[in-house]
This record gives sequence, C-alpha cells and structure tokens, in this order.
Amino acid sequence: PTPHGSQISQTLQDIAAEIFRQDDWGQPAQYIPELASVDPKQFAISVCLNDGKVLSAGAADKPFSIQSVSKVFTLVAALGRVGDQLWSRVGREPSGATFDSVVLLEREQGQPRNPFINAGAIVTTDSLLCKREPRTALAEVLELAREMAGSDDIFINKKVARSETETGSRNVALAHYLKSHGNLLNSPERTLGVYFHQCAIEMTTEQLAKAGRILAGLSGAPRVISRHHARRVNALMMTCGHYDGSGDFAYRVGLPGKSGVGGGLLIIAPRVASIAVWSPGLNGYGNSHAGTRAAAMLSKATNWSVF
Ligand code: GLU
Repeated sequence: PTPHGSQISQTLQDIAAEIFRQDDWGQPAQYIPELASVDPKQFAISVCLNDGKVLSAGAADKPFSIQSVSKVFTLVAALGRVGDQLWSRVGREPSGATFDSVVLLEREQGQPRNPFINAGAIVTTDSLLCKREPRTALAEVLELAREMAGSDDIFINKKVARSETETGSRNVALAHYLKSHGNLLNSPERTLGVYFHQCAIEMTTEQLAKAGRILAGLSGAPRVISRHHARRVNALMMTCGHYDGSGDFAYRVGLPGKSGVGGGLLIIAPRVASIAVWSPGLNGYGNSHAGTRAAAMLSKATNWSVF
C-alpha cells in the first residue's frame, strides 16, 4: 500500500536530516563557473502525488540549472512532433559510456546510442528544430516545461547558456561528427544554440516534480504526451537516464530517472508519484551524490521500486 501524505512528509524530513549529516557532498560540475561556484551543501526533494499535492523538504523553491534533465522535455516534444521516426536517427540502448562520449558515435557510424547522452540529445533537438527558427524550437521546449510543471515561472539563465556555448567544444565536435554522417539536418550552430539554451533552463524541485506527473500517469496531469509514448520515455529513463551510472541507479533506486550535471534528478514512480531531487555535488558518474542517496532512501522507505 502507498504510504499517505503525512507519512511521506515525515520520510522526506528524515531523508533531508540524514543528508545534512553526511560529510561527503561530492563536487559540483567544474566546466563552467556558474555551476562550479555553487555551494555543494544544498539539498531539496519534492514528491508530487496522484492527488496533485506536492510534499517537499529542503530548498524546494530554489531554482537550479536542470541541464540534462531537459533531455526529457526535448524527447517528449520530439516524440510529439516526429513520433517514432526519431528512432531511425537515435538508438534506444544504454551507452555504458560517459555523457559526452565520442568513441561510441564513431563505432556506430553517427547513430547515437540513446536520446539521453549528449549526441542523442543533439539529434533529438535537431529533429525538433526542423526548418524552424532556433528561437521557435527553444520556445516550444520552454513552454512544454512550463505546461508540464503548471508554472510560468520557469526561465533560461542567459549567463549559463553563454558559458555553455563558450565551453562546449566537445558538443560542437559531436554535432559536426553527426553532420558528417548525415544525421544532423540543421547546421551545428543552429542545433547547438537550442541545445545549450535548453540545458540552461532553471527549475525548482517543486516545479520539476510536477513536470513529471504525465510521465508517472498521475491524474490531472496536462496531456502533452500519449500514454504509449510516456511509457517509452520511462523505459529510456530506466535504462539510459544516468549515463554510465544507469545500471547502478536502477539497482539502488529501482525507478526510471534522469540526471543533470546541475545536480538535479527527475524520478518517476509509475502511477504513484513524480519525484525531483537536487543537490549540486556530483558522484563519480556525474550524477548528484546526495540526490542519488536520497532517491535510494525514498524508494526503500516507500517501497516504490518497480521491481
Ligand atoms: N550542458 C551539459 C553538456 O552538454 C549537460 C550535461 C549533463 O547535464 O549531463 O555538456
């Protein structure tokens, strides 16, 4: 049986207390100053239940850089726009490699392994762009995030977007490599312009938890994606949502999830809850250290694992 609201509230408080007792918070992403300078000793967790209620502990109203969690929004948008045609350009297998791996792309002749590693997300964004202006595609992603979260108070951090652009040489390389294999329809600059800005979207854990309602199949969620596609996004989050740490996350948490280098996590407990966690210090896989610990504690306490 699903624990009720007051029990979950208490569990979230207990998890936050346990997290604040930890000595090792991991290290925030270092590749841009906006992320590197964030205090690692921060934590927030929010759980949105089937009745629409959001329960939280920690800094749940503090916006953070969602980074690769945005790959979920672009995948939802792309499945809506191009549907299953996307799979002629991107695979659906876990990569077992780092988020920005070049090696795999070469081995698989320009076909990225899945939509959640950078190369696959760049292709997904490219499919959304079609022949439209980058700002139109970007507005679609931002509007989708707002609609899913039920909040207009979601914005792109321009400074982060600029830093991403300035330091994104490896993403530029991936985009050119995709282009050389005919798997990029737009110029690398146009597609990456959208990609870098989508990574710079900021959300709170409250907003992110609400944004996952449709993926969890909760009542009252805006129907931005069919049940059929939502199920498939969950499958990809389970198998590919944490780069080369995906197996470890499935083992420890047992729920579909997507991480970002900003320390955010979106986790789906199908038909029960949508969960967002944030703590900016990362573990060795580049996923939130405290966030993953907290997710494991929550899944254990609630029995929400899908297994
Ligand atoms: N902006 C980062 C990149 O593309 C996102 C990576 C991540 O969140 O894992 O390099």
